[in-house]
Amino acid sequence: MAQMVPVDAERPDPEVIARAAAILRAGGLVAFPTETVYGLGADGLNPAALARLFQAKGRPATDPVILHIADLALLPRLAREVPPAAWALARRFWPGPLTLVLPKQPIVPDVATAGLPTVAIRMPAHPVALALLRAAGVPVAAPSANRFGRTSPTTAQHVLEDLGDTVDLILDAGPTPIGVESTVLDLTRPIPTILRPGGLPREVLEELLGPVALFDRSVEGPAPAPGMLPKHYAPRAEMVVLLGPRPAVRARLRDLAERYLRAGCRVGALIAEEDREALAGLPVILAVLGSENDLEGIARRLYQALRDLDAQGPDLILAREFGTQGLGLAIRDRLVRAAGGRVVHVGEAGD
Ligand code: AMP
Ligand code: MG
Repeated sequence: MAQMVPVDAERPDPEVIARAAAILRAGGLVAFPTETVYGLGADGLNPAALARLFQAKGRPATDPVILHIADLALLPRLAREVPPAAWALARRFWPGPLTLVLPKQPIVPDVATAGLPTVAIRMPAHPVALALLRAAGVPVAAPSANRFGRTSPTTAQHVLEDLGDTVDLILDAGPTPIGVESTVLDLTRPIPTILRPGGLPREVLEELLGPVALFDRSVEGPAPAPGMLPKHYAPRAEMVVLLGPRPAVRARLRDLAERYLRAGCRVGALIAEEDREALAGLPVILAVLGSENDLEGIARRLYQALRDLDAQGPDLILAREFGTQGLGLAIRDRLVRAAGGRVVHVGEAGD
């Protein structure tokens, strides 16, 4: 089993960090907290270490990883072209939950980018991650520290459950503050395009960049990177996400719960405080994410709630969206993908 070492989230012990950095430099795997989720780190310039990383996660070789840096000087060493927009974004939002996709330098191994001519780069805003990156002195590939396709880890305990057998060291600094992955922004397209909505909202990017496109699977066909596969972050139970205005969603929640209960299913519901009443009196397993008006809290609790709910063994999980404003877009994306694309549109014409 991997060793799990507690570290202070604000002031990590330099000795522990030095040990973790030495493991990374020697080609090992270290799980560490970022502000989004826990990452599984490997030396991003070492193909053998990257091969171990893909193996540990069960991640297909076709799914590129993000390289994490602590020093802006590394940006042009990894990216062949750094347009003014990339510098502006990096200065404004790094460290932070924003990943930039840029043309890659030859120094970046093909295994990191899944053979793509582009590389994804981010500077995480977590003291432990930054200390580790500085001590390692190399860009660190750090996809979420979970088995491929499963729910991302927001605590060290989640990492231990998923990858305890294969990772060399886990740094435990408590739950991650944002709780959903970074926003992936492709700057190699004519219009900056969000490939994956995440911790930095589209509106915030648009204040700096003007219009930002959202990669649309239904329009553009196959995803450019399979991390964008429709089924991801998934629980074991079947899951359905209700999309639409709140009152209609609440009415349909109750209706569907009653129907599945009558059919003898164990029903779980991933809901907001405000939805409780709609399910009152029904024997539904509830996971309550907090108030529907607190999107930050909902994002922070989402994966833990999904894990807790799934652990109670429902046959079906009913969930609801939280709109597309701010973090709502990332929350909806993760819910819909956890559901493998199974959505019900309610409250529309003909519904
Ligand atoms: P994860 O590391 O699990 O947070 O996933 C990283 C995601 O970033 C991938 O699944 C892709 O969606 C995206 N990504 C990484 N590198 C690239 C790239 N070169 N081009 C486009 N998307 C990328
Ligand atoms: Mg992931």
